[in-house]
Amino acid sequence: MANFDTLRIRAGYDSKDHNYAVSVPIYQTASFDLGSVDRAKSLWALDEQAGIYSRVGNPTVSAFEERIAALDHAHSAVALSSGMAAISYTILSLTEGGGNIVAPRALYGGTEDSFSNFFPRFGSTIKFVDNRFDPESYEELIDDKTRGIYIETISNPNAEIYDIEAIAEVAHRHDIPLIVDNTVATPYLINPFDHGADIIVYSATKAIGGHGNTIAGIVEESGKFFYSEELFPQFYEKSHKIRNRIGESRSAFDIDPKGPLVIHLRAFYLEFIGAALSPFSAFLLLQGVETISERVDKQTRTAEKLVKYLEGRKEVEWVKHPSATNSPFKELADKYFPKGAGYLFTFGFGGTERQLNEFIQHLKYFSYHVNIGDVRSLIVNSPKTTHAELDEERLERAGINENTVRISVGLESPEDLIKDLDDAFNAVFSR
Ligand SMILES: *Cc1c(COP(=O)(O)O)cnc(C)c1O
Repeated sequence: MANFDTLRIRAGYDSKDHNYAVSVPIYQTASFDLGSVDRAKSLWALDEQAGIYSRVGNPTVSAFEERIAALDHAHSAVALSSGMAAISYTILSLTEGGGNIVAPRALYGGTEDSFSNFFPRFGSTIKFVDNRFDPESYEELIDDKTRGIYIETISNPNAEIYDIEAIAEVAHRHDIPLIVDNTVATPYLINPFDHGADIIVYSATKAIGGHGNTIAGIVEESGKFFYSEELFPQFYEKSHKIRNRIGESRSAFDIDPKGPLVIHLRAFYLEFIGAALSPFSAFLLLQGVETISERVDKQTRTAEKLVKYLEGRKEVEWVKHPSATNSPFKELADKYFPKGAGYLFTFGFGGTERQLNEFIQHLKYFSYHVNIGDVRSLIVNSPKTTHAELDEERLERAGINENTVRISVGLESPEDLIKDLDDAFNAVFSR
């Protein structure tokens, strides 16, 4: 297989199949002609993989799915209309019938809140670990209803890193998959499948699209995890809906024993809950992914410079990023993130809430809005915005303080960004 930088440009698309169009065309159509009754039969039997109806498949969306799958060497992938759809579909499908998932509390705000307060309504519970950096802590919570372990490869917002391989080992000892949210890291900084992850979920809204213009998500599976019938009977249930050409009911496992989750998601979750990605969004994401290496690389280098700068300011109480001087994640970062640990970090603002508000107002080149991985640099006061849904106790357990400020570094000149921060500190603290 070609290298990453070739795949992010070439994978998932052959112009010969699309009127020799160089750029992936936007198939802005709800439905596709079936051609003939016989062809319709093969389409429904999944013998021929082509468009039927854009809720469950569309060529522009497929090109995006195949491209991201190629970057992670995934067996299969399904794109969805948001990162939250990717997470919800994955958790709900794995825990069908009352299963649970083991996870840390330090998660993207929406993930933490849905894990705590929303999925349990459907009988899918989350068991939160006490010591998220200790693999044994995960193992202690696994019971006969546990259907997976869930972590973020680089956590949002504090850029924490787990020993992914050690946690994968725990999951595999119990025949359950390790699911990772690789949104912050992106396929450029790490391939979680190389370190034992079995399922990857992304918010493609963030650094995959990279330009802050599209909401999207994707779920991938490695093709290496064996879902046992005892723990995952839903993948073995025969359904007329996914019958073969001669009308015999099949299970997701019958269709693809290496990737039953993606089959199950497409045939049931996408079909019936319907968080379909639009072809136009897929086009924007494909455009974004063509420059992912240069973007994430520069954003990571600039983040390292900003971390250094902030560590030198007396108004900054601490900086959390694996490149920070006293980071406890240096060793894990060396092992899992040789290209650097990304463009997202937090710092403790050493002033009053009013001073922080003034500081944010004063910045010219850091937008005050909630996104990450954008070409624009962004700043937010996490406890009041991205993690505002967490109460005090949950904030504390997620490692978020009253004065936590999160920065996602964009592609502006690092010198201008540092000067911008400098001017804002000087303006606020000279009064
Ligand atoms: C933004 C984000 C999500 C949610 O994705 P949406 O595309 O906004 O639905 C999930 N996980 C992480 C780490 C995120 O940053």
